[in-house]
Amino acid sequence: MNAPIPPGAWLGLLGGGQLGRMFCMAAQSLGYKVAVLDPGADGPAASVADRHIHADYLDAAGLARLAGLARAATTEFENVPSAALEFLARSVRVTPSATSVAIAQDRISEKTFLAGHGVALAPFAVLRSDSDARDVSPALLPGIVKSARLGYDGKGQIRVATQDAVIAAFAAMGGVPCVLEHFVDLACEVSVIVARTDAGATTAWPVAENRHRDGILDVSISPARVDRVVIDEAQRIATVVAAALDYRGVLCVEMFVTREGALLVNEIAPRPHNSGHYTIDACITSQFEQQARVLAGLPLGDTRQHEPAVMINLLGDIWFESERATPREPDWTLVLRHPQAKLHLYGKAEPRRGRKMGHVTCLAPTHEAALAVARSIKRDLGIPGADAL
Ligand code: AMP
Repeated sequence: MNAPIPPGAWLGLLGGGQLGRMFCMAAQSLGYKVAVLDPGADGPAASVADRHIHADYLDAAGLARLAGLARAATTEFENVPSAALEFLARSVRVTPSATSVAIAQDRISEKTFLAGHGVALAPFAVLRSDSDARDVSPALLPGIVKSARLGYDGKGQIRVATQDAVIAAFAAMGGVPCVLEHFVDLACEVSVIVARTDAGATTAWPVAENRHRDGILDVSISPARVDRVVIDEAQRIATVVAAALDYRGVLCVEMFVTREGALLVNEIAPRPHNSGHYTIDACITSQFEQQARVLAGLPLGDTRQHEPAVMINLLGDIWFESERATPREPDWTLVLRHPQAKLHLYGKAEPRRGRKMGHVTCLAPTHEAALAVARSIKRDLGIPGADAL
């Protein structure tokens, strides 16, 4: 089952969002055909896939169709039920494994796993009951209560300053398992994306420096403008995490850089990541091509970056300029008039506030020049925070 799968064969993908769309494009460019299993009718990936299996993740008939067609399958959606990956793994190659995905799906298992492998994290406590919430150490405050499962882009999180607030936040979460994390005084946030093969060969892309707005990634600057020792340590940590998981595929490790220069892992994503979109335009091999390579059992591609890149996320908000009730397509010439800006739109039919609709990668020989293009595009499209870049 582990011989390389040659181009021309079918690859399978669970999930139909923009990460899947960019995976399809990269795999197709290598000559593969891609079958996407997605419960949505007409998502970003389904519209470019060679075949769309319109089924729920746990639909046995849909999964059997995927397994019948594809020689290997991966996921673009980290909350895909691990039972779906286990089902597929009975007959086809699956990367990453159900076990790796399951660890990343749950903050408690993720933190327990990482701490068990000596990876530094923000101090935290597990909240499973009212008494856990009552008994948290004051040393963890101020903090953030995060639901253990199904949180993303800052959703499922409540900031807390007092023990009473922890009790209230746990109740507001509906009493589901949560973690309370100490609020870290951040210098910045970075991420490292790594890819690892069956044989354990691992490559890391340059470290990305990430800025969030309302809990959603806003801008990613690569390479990160941090000390060389921080870069080396961040890449080392990501490689250690991938090895500890015996990971196969593309993995993102998000980290906090404290004011003292220490690195604390925030979370991991068992798939390509928004902070790695710059790799499409700025690196020899993109995170999506690498995902296809590992899936097909091919050698890893070079991750070197050609020049500095600033990626701006395009959220649905810019379709609703000046509080308009009905959406209007932004004027993309405001982006395309910059020859060094690469526009990627995900083909989503319905723009909504906070919804990721596309991204722009600004490339230039220096960070300053790439940031200047990014600032100009942000201003022109009405994306807040241009001056803070
Ligand atoms: P998460 O969903 O855990 O990635 O959190 C979303 C964002 O909230 C992060 O990217 C940080 O900007 C912020 N954040 C989350 N946890 C912490 C923390 N423990 N300390 C400081 N900021 C945090």
